[in-house]
Amino acid sequence: MHDLIIIGGGPAGLTAGLYNARARLDVVLLEKLAPGGQVLTTDWVENYPGFPEGVSGVELVDRMKTQAENFGLKIESREVIGLELSEKKKKVITDSGEMEAKALILCCGATWKKLGIEGEERLMGKGISFCATCDGPFYRDEDVAVIGGGDTAVEEAVFLTRFVKKIFLIHRRDKLRATKLLQERAMAEKKIELVWDTVPVRILGEKDVEGIELKNVKTGDTHRQAVRGVFVFIGTIPNTELVKGQIKLDRNGFIVTDENMQTSIPGVFAAGDIRSKLFRQISTAVGEGAAASYAAEKYLESLH
Ligand code: NAP
Repeated sequence: MHDLIIIGGGPAGLTAGLYNARARLDVVLLEKLAPGGQVLTTDWVENYPGFPEGVSGVELVDRMKTQAENFGLKIESREVIGLELSEKKKKVITDSGEMEAKALILCCGATWKKLGIEGEERLMGKGISFCATCDGPFYRDEDVAVIGGGDTAVEEAVFLTRFVKKIFLIHRRDKLRATKLLQERAMAEKKIELVWDTVPVRILGEKDVEGIELKNVKTGDTHRQAVRGVFVFIGTIPNTELVKGQIKLDRNGFIVTDENMQTSIPGVFAAGDIRSKLFRQISTAVGEGAAASYAAEKYLESLH
């Protein structure tokens, strides 16, 4: 049985791993894909302290991973398919066998929310994207739509101006949620046209995206806009399927913890985007990873 298993290798998990490996715990981090989490799909990070010129998402997480591994963190490539959580023992069922630990830190993050409208499933990957960094270059000199009004939508819309001819930034209200600096950038961009009070109702096209049907929520009017790509950035849903019914979640499905990242089960901690909170940043995920690692260490000491 391991002292500690960390599930998820984004900034929260890598930070917890760094601290716990440095504290010489028997700790292993499980990650189903490449470590990095959603930061891997972020082109440029400019609000993470210590990088005055900014840093690419890929480089930032690569540095975090190297730093944690330098202290001896073991990272295993496994998908967790089941969890059995009790106060005494935490069983982790993976696609390549079962593992046990005295304590767990859940850093499984969140997944992009879908629109749930006609055409979305059919055209997924055929013009509908959740990653501007990955797919932006495919739309050189084309018109695209970006859905959402938060930091992600606005930041990614500004990023897309490098490639595309025009961006329709479609937001359901008449005020953006994004931080002021990002709003100013979007407003100053000639390639971005803000479409207020509007929601998409259908994505058009059979084999590829050809357009989007939009509805003005104030007037009820609908119209069709020809676009070759639709980028969806309407928030995230937490990856908490495995703990549903076992751990206390908030009404949106995020894990509820106390200020020490302790969940409703002793010895199970949560950090990063999976946690119920107001502000989701790389810097907050890192801070929570460190706090969870310390709380886990104290918990393990208390068992002796
Ligand atoms: P978010 O803040 O939850 O914003 C989601 C946006 O999508 C909102 O504008 C929302 O509209 C809209 N929306 C939600 N459901 C919709 C639907 N069904 N149809 C149409 N529009 C819908 O999500 P996010 O932008 O991905 O950001 C998530 C977190 O990451 C935030 O804490 C954010 O600050 C952080 N983040 C930070 C940075 C950065 O600091 N550089 C970059 C990216 C993300 P309403 O406004 O009307 O609710």
